[in-house]
Amino acid sequence: MRNRFNHRATVLLRVASVTPDSIGAELGLLPGTELLSVNGRRLEDFLDWEFLTADDAFVLRARLPSGQDLECDIERPEGMPLGVALEPPRIRRCANHCDFCFVDGNPTGMRGSLYIRDDDYRLSFRYGNFATLTNLKPWDEARIAEYRLSPLYVSVHATDPVVRRWLLRNPEAPDIVAQLGRFAERGIRFHTQVVLVPGVNDGVVLERTLVDLYGLGAAVLSVSVVPVALTEYSKHNLVQAPSAEQCRVALAAVDRWAARAVVERGHPWCFGADDLYLQADAALPPAPWYGDFEQRENGVGAVRYLQTRIAAAAGRYGDWTGRRVGIATGTAMASLMPQVVETLARETGGAFEILPLQNDLFGTSVTTAGLLPGAAFLRALRERPDLDLALLPAESVNDDLRFMDDLDAHVLAAQVPMEIRLSYDFADVLAGGSADGRMNGLNDASTGAPSADPAIPPSAGGER
Ligand code: SF4
Repeated sequence: MRNRFNHRATVLLRVASVTPDSIGAELGLLPGTELLSVNGRRLEDFLDWEFLTADDAFVLRARLPSGQDLECDIERPEGMPLGVALEPPRIRRCANHCDFCFVDGNPTGMRGSLYIRDDDYRLSFRYGNFATLTNLKPWDEARIAEYRLSPLYVSVHATDPVVRRWLLRNPEAPDIVAQLGRFAERGIRFHTQVVLVPGVNDGVVLERTLVDLYGLGAAVLSVSVVPVALTEYSKHNLVQAPSAEQCRVALAAVDRWAARAVVERGHPWCFGADDLYLQADAALPPAPWYGDFEQRENGVGAVRYLQTRIAAAAGRYGDWTGRRVGIATGTAMASLMPQVVETLARETGGAFEILPLQNDLFGTSVTTAGLLPGAAFLRALRERPDLDLALLPAESVNDDLRFMDDLDAHVLAAQVPMEIRLSYDFADVLAGGSADGRMNGLNDASTGAPSADPAIPPSAGGER
């Protein structure tokens, strides 16, 4: 108890900004105000704040930057926001040391946040970041249950405790099946992933993992099998990428379990990442296979999701007849892109060119578009005056519009001869009067770039 008290005593929750004319402003809250407690319960982080202030009436204790203490008896009309934005939370650090850790695979000179090993169940609930749950304290488990933080996105990797501890390089990692089972009894649900490391958690280990996760019943909403991604800086003496044959074997296991789940549960449940299909040289399942695409951020169904989004915007695309559009992407997507581009060309009349870029920051083995450095885009685009527009993957910049190598997207846009737009799915910047609208024109002062809540990064770095 003593430790728990000390732990909590060091945590502060501060106001970053207050909306004018809001309840927060009326109460006199200011940027820098420490939010201490609600109804006598100490506030540790944004989750406490959101859940404890969800009622229409509560007592807030706070300390203004001047040191003055406030006690506010708040009653508000149902649903009216308080108008208080919080400072970013302190990210929970990872307790593991996986050989395939993405952070270890980072070269020097990148955005600072990319060196953080995050493993944070709060961001798992909020943003769908994967967490291993190996750093949970008893009070974390209690609040996950109390606040019903569900679904959580969990990196399982293997349910065999010995193999999992080996993979995570963490001898203290708890038995994940027992842990998930305890949460399941309290109504928590999970999307899970297995990062496939050949020779470690494939074959019979993968089979046992799928048996165990399936055995947890409805609590495990999905499981994805994702081939391990390495960079040139990864520990290649300790972990290898799977071969095409190893991907095919894993895919066969995925297919077997998916077929069983379709019969018994009415949905596939077990999914291969797009990368697994690519590396196995197998065709992707059709879009309906992925249901609500709940693991698309994990590269599961991402291609089909893209096609679905493009098709959904049919009839709303701007007229790009006679104009040339470059689509800059990683080498992974390049081979899948022609089927996507075909629809775009038909809808817009434009001439689309796919620009597959190699990742010379992480190495050519890293093929995802979201990890491309700004320098790669700059090199590919600066000598291309024939292009009217270039679409860049929005995932490749952070909320401050900086690429992996810290290049500012505005600086990039100023150095290339065409208009630049950051796009998640093409429809977001090409549909809806886009030809002249520069909805997302970085070449302008205003970017209009899609952005997550700037207070909390969708992913700080390590866990994926
Ligand atoms: S951040 Fe993820 S990959 Fe890196 S050590 Fe932690 S759990 Fe492993």
